[in-house]
Amino acid sequence: MVHLLEIEEYAKENNIPIMQKDGIEYLTNYIKENKVKKILEIGSAIGYSTIKMALVSDDIYVTTIERDEKRYLKAIQNIKKYNLENRITIYLKDAFDVELDDKYDLIFIDAAKSQYIKFFEKFKKNLKDNGTIFSDNLAFHGLVELGEENIDSRNVRGIVRKLKKYIDFLKNNEEFETKFISIGDGIGITTKK
Ligand code: SAH
Ligand code: MG
Repeated sequence: MVHLLEIEEYAKENNIPIMQKDGIEYLTNYIKENKVKKILEIGSAIGYSTIKMALVSDDIYVTTIERDEKRYLKAIQNIKKYNLENRITIYLKDAFDVELDDKYDLIFIDAAKSQYIKFFEKFKKNLKDNGTIFSDNLAFHGLVELGEENIDSRNVRGIVRKLKKYIDFLKNNEEFETKFISIGDGIGITTKK
């Protein structure tokens, strides 16, 4: 397990919501155990989870998308620091404007929480038949469990409502099945039926 202390500290100081420790550990173990080689990530931020995933094995390739320029530039810096330019492709774009033809072993959805259904619908065609879609932050710091009536902020209530919709969408999906695990900020692990 490689530790990326510098990146973790930068994230903390700048309020960048990188994956929680136990969550990223679970994800990287999953990648190792299932011999995942080709990964698509929606939401790179500063490249923390991207780099962690790429470092699992030197035959792993990651494509990742980030729409915020400042974070993207920081991610590029971090990727260079770990000499991973050859195995990580990063796009500065809104994920909804990216068209990919490739198929991936794993798609990691970790971007705007209100749009998870849309990300899922857009990128499911890029999943290999035996591939997995990981979704982060399904618990949203315990707020999804807490219930909307107990949340003061209208904005946060809206996100919680959308996350619940996404969870229902996964639960009732005819094509996919999902395992929900309460590690990190709540992770969904979705595979084709
Ligand atoms: N995966 C990262 C954390 C990502 S934080 C890690 O664990 O290290 C979520 C990121 O998604 C933010 O930086 C945000 O700018 C980006 N994002 C949100 N919606 C997006 C979209 N539609 N397209 C591209 N990036 C998006
Ligand atoms: Mg996240």
